[in-house]
Amino acid sequence: MQAKKQLHGLPSYKPGKPIEEVKRELGLSKVVKLASNENPYGSSPKAAEAIREVADQTAIYPDGYAASIREKVAAKIGVSENQLVFGNGSDEVIQFLCRAFLSPETNTVTADPTFSQYKLNATIEGAEVREVPSVDGVHDLDAMLEAIDENTRIVWVCNPNNPSGTYVGEKAFVNFLEKVPAHVLVVSDEAYYEYVTADDYPETLPLLEKFDNLMILRTFSKAYGLAALRIGYGVANPTLIATINPVRPPFNNTTFAHAAAVAALEDDDFIKDCVEKNTKSLKQFEDFCRKHNLKYYPSQTNFILIDFNRSGDEVFDYLLKKGFIVRSGQALGFPTCARITVGTDQENEELFSVLEEMLVSNPV
Ligand SMILES: *Cc1c(COP(=O)(O)O)cnc(C)c1O
Repeated sequence: MQAKKQLHGLPSYKPGKPIEEVKRELGLSKVVKLASNENPYGSSPKAAEAIREVADQTAIYPDGYAASIREKVAAKIGVSENQLVFGNGSDEVIQFLCRAFLSPETNTVTADPTFSQYKLNATIEGAEVREVPSVDGVHDLDAMLEAIDENTRIVWVCNPNNPSGTYVGEKAFVNFLEKVPAHVLVVSDEAYYEYVTADDYPETLPLLEKFDNLMILRTFSKAYGLAALRIGYGVANPTLIATINPVRPPFNNTTFAHAAAVAALEDDDFIKDCVEKNTKSLKQFEDFCRKHNLKYYPSQTNFILIDFNRSGDEVFDYLLKKGFIVRSGQALGFPTCARITVGTDQENEELFSVLEEMLVSNPV
């Protein structure tokens, strides 16, 4: 057998360690996972209730058109139903885009460091990946523009960026869109959209009127707390959506995801409450960093990247033994950092005291 050559030596995605595995391995009774940017407050209770209401529908294929959630999202964000494509998480929409646009003759432009799935999927399609170094965690849009040529098919703007939590402002983004050639698709990955509080964060939906080469990605996995259900979507003009639709598997979301996402969109109070708590907690993380003279990357998300001036793996190992799973920056392009998801007040307080212990007992 011979798999396509792009797969040779390609590592598979390493997710944050599962809680149960860590408990078993280290003999801990309580483990807190702050590694995958999940919502520490779960999801709207209305979502679980909606799933229970369709719990007897396991034998029936889901609606391949995703009519219920399509209608809901279209109304909520003010676009037409034919401007939406739903994926098994927005991860799957990234896969659709790479499959539809990239091949060995083409290239794609990303920031570096950024979300790993752009490069992975592009590599599988055989495309050249042009990774443009960021400046202090922020996309260097001018340099990304320079990297574009006639064979470029997609440029990825992760906004806010994972793993740095930083963002690109409205003026810079619009200026970028105006300069990107029309043959290049610009993807604005807005997985943390709901958490953003910056006034000059770009509101991209109105830009779809003017830019046919723009695709916006959103997800129910982060603020909406539905990561287990795997549902996210892309928004673009109807022609672009029609172009990528043949790539989408016919039943790529479950009935349960549709039902839960519809219900979640009806609970604005839940999101508002989570975002308020997150904003307050982020400030506490920043205070902690200032108090201990640690550099951090200002975050518009529900995670924060902190530079501990020592190997990120060392921080990871220390915290793991104390029952906290975080992400080492080592594999994320920030070797002396750790990326930590904002938890509940109690989780954050406990984490701060463990971190304090680490800083005092093992100074660099
Ligand atoms: C979490 C995340 C996603 C993907 O989330 P799904 O669960 O697949 O919807 C996409 N982009 C970024 C930047 C993320 O952090």
